[in-house]
Amino acid sequence: MMNAFQEAVAQHLGMLAVSEEMERRVQEHNRRLDRAIQGLRSGAIKVVAVTALGEGVFAHFVESASGNEYCVLERQGELSCSCPDFQKRNQLCKHALAVLLLKAGDIQTSD
Ligand SMILES: [Zn+2]
Repeated sequence: MMNAFQEAVAQHLGMLAVSEEMERRVQEHNRRLDRAIQGLRSGAIKVVAVTALGEGVFAHFVESASGNEYCVLERQGELSCSCPDFQKRNQLCKHALAVLLLKAGDIQTSD
């Protein structure tokens, strides 16, 4: 059995672990965002085509620096991507972030 002090310490350590995990996720997200911004500016990441598939559903075809083409599917504002990064983590990848940045008009591309 833990006493009140030990419980408080354990709770605090638990909160620290959670905030470290949050911090790690934020940093990971920021790194992807940086890559998306740099990629769009340099032309390494390009949205080559956008196809409307239905009401609020769009397929954005994104060419990546590696030369691979991925499909970012937008469904009522929710984005998913066909790349391994998104498939593995189920979090916004640089391709989806690039689509969001372009839609927001935050980025001037080279062409
Ligand atoms: Zn992707």
